Amino acid sequence: MRQSIRLGSIAGIPVGLNWGLLLIAAFYVFNLAAGILPLSVPGASTTTYWIASTVAVVFFFGSILAHELGHALVAQRNGIKVNAITLWLLGGVAQLDSEPDSAGAEFRIAIAGPAVSVALAALFGAIWFVASPLIGGTVLSFVLGYLAIVNGVLAVFNMLPAAPLDGGRVLAAALWWRSGNRHTARASAARAGQLVGSMILGLGVVFFLTGQGSIFTIILGWFIRSGATHERRRAQRLDRVSTSDLASAMQPLVAPINRGITVSGLEAMSASYDQPIAFPLSGPTGVSGIVSSTAVHTTRPSERHVTFIDDLVVPWEDFTSARVGEDMSVIVDRARAADKHHVIVYDLMGRQVGYVSLVGFLSAAAG
Ligand SMILES: [Zn+2]
Repeated sequence: MRQSIRLGSIAGIPVGLNWGLLLIAAFYVFNLAAGILPLSVPGASTTTYWIASTVAVVFFFGSILAHELGHALVAQRNGIKVNAITLWLLGGVAQLDSEPDSAGAEFRIAIAGPAVSVALAALFGAIWFVASPLIGGTVLSFVLGYLAIVNGVLAVFNMLPAAPLDGGRVLAAALWWRSGNRHTARASAARAGQLVGSMILGLGVVFFLTGQGSIFTIILGWFIRSGATHERRRAQRLDRVSTSDLASAMQPLVAPINRGITVSGLEAMSASYDQPIAFPLSGPTGVSGIVSSTAVHTTRPSERHVTFIDDLVVPWEDFTSARVGEDMSVIVDRARAADKHHVIVYDLMGRQVGYVSLVGFLSAAAG
């Protein structure tokens, strides 16, 4: 994530901290040390309040990190690479390199974070309870109680059944498991996220206007709603991609041509076909790339007879391969992972039969 400070790495996962979080942390420490703590546990020194507040907030952010590590480690165990964990304004994010390939994996990864938070709430609560005869009514007892409560709140809040929150992912996993369609499942969970986000946003505005709440609730509601809107659009797009057919996205490959042909020459050769087609380009060592009949339009009509096709050729290095009958969403995922924008399609006999431009395909699917 942008503007983050690298803290180190855990289990091979880089851990970073967003600058804005330092401001929030300072605000929390101030709030505790100069307000809540002296009111709740009077009689201690100012230094004690500040040290205890700093420790409490550091452990609070440590708890958020542990929550994210829960997601990250379970993701790793399910064969998914974790690119980074970043702590930021509204909590943390574990950035996964790819998506879970089963409803079960989606469920395990989603539930792991809240499970860690519940465990931490229980741990701090148990220590607080057991030690209370010794430390009851002290600043230390307050800090333990505080950590038990914030971890409990973290678990409960994240389990709201509203994507992009963890509870929304659990809901999506359940719907996916039942229906077999991961994209429509995610779209439904994101729809719930839009509703819950709007409700939090609305309540935040009411509380803010009546002087009972901070602007934080409004920001939180807005964040959930916009995250959910983004997820819902993405899920709907992927669903369209998944159900669209490779065969209809594919331009058939025709006979190979040589370099040195002008764009207007290519235009003339494509004219007899009633659909876009793609020409393999012969080079000294076999086929060296593909040129599509649709690429003609990138050259101005007045210049087509003096421009050679060489600039329109997509070289082999830019291709990923696919098999006839493969699911389009799988092909798109694979091309994205390899950072390729063009697909060459093979038939069951291993012959090259078609070409797909992913840019063209995705913009058509998005429309
Ligand atoms: Zn989480």
